Amino acid sequence: MSGNSKPLSGRVAFVTGAAAGIGRATALAFAREGAAVAVADVAEEGLGETVRMVEQAGGRALALRCDVAREEEVKAALDKVAETFGRLDFAFNNAGVEQPVAPLADLTAEAWDRIAAINLRGVFLCMKHEIPLMLRHGGGAIVNTSSGAGVKGFAGQAAYCAAKWGVIGLTKAAALDYAKSGIRVNAVCPGIIETPMMDRFSGGTPEGRARVIAQEPVGRMGRPEEIAAAVLWLCSDAATFTVGAALVVDGGQTA
Ligand code: NAD
Repeated sequence: MSGNSKPLSGRVAFVTGAAAGIGRATALAFAREGAAVAVADVAEEGLGETVRMVEQAGGRALALRCDVAREEEVKAALDKVAETFGRLDFAFNNAGVEQPVAPLADLTAEAWDRIAAINLRGVFLCMKHEIPLMLRHGGGAIVNTSSGAGVKGFAGQAAYCAAKWGVIGLTKAAALDYAKSGIRVNAVCPGIIETPMMDRFSGGTPEGRARVIAQEPVGRMGRPEEIAAAVLWLCSDAATFTVGAALVVDGGQTA
């Protein structure tokens, strides 16, 4: 099949947290639209599997071992993207970790720091090193992963909520910084999505799953592909007037 007939042929996407869940599904969605994908994660085995899946779908993928909380690793990953593909059009800053459910006073400062470092600082560091690459050729689109926990509070989730609300503030400010430069920055706020993270969070038992599904007015979890579709739309030419938005895709969870 000729790659040239696909809508994103010749374009390059960078996806973090791409070894599993929402990141993997989104990397695959970019690849199916014809983009080359650079997939970053700390989990090398999962990354290898994502690369195999992209290649099986006829796409091109570059695996990058990268801890998004470490600036030198983020910079090295994006240098490699520039060296390999010569450009960056789309970035999905999605790597994140969950918080064990605990009331605020039971949360250690170390747990707070880890969640803030990955879920918030990681998004900042990625944007900081993506934006110069995008500016080289006149712009691009960035989507950051927030959460339903970025638009309302959840008991037992103080650090996670703070980081995810922070992602939306960071997204809106960055969107204004680059609105005139051709870079659109938006956030996606997933509801309860069926991923390894949600498996850990719910315990993966029928009771645990039922407990989280009870939060969903649609009566089911979302699929990672349903978030990927929103990210692809935010990156597409159908969304050229969408700037600084926090797009909630949550089955009605926070409605
Ligand atoms: P997941 O755990 O299934 O996948 C996340 C990936 O991020 C993993 O492959 C993990 O190795 C990677 N990662 C973790 N720390 C990293 C780091 N320091 N550097 C690079 N990669 C790292 O999770 P998911 O459910 O696919 O979640 C993806 C994003 O969506 C996260 O930001 C999460 O907070 C957010 N989110 C998930 C849900 C949900 O219900 N699953 C809901 C709202 C928001």
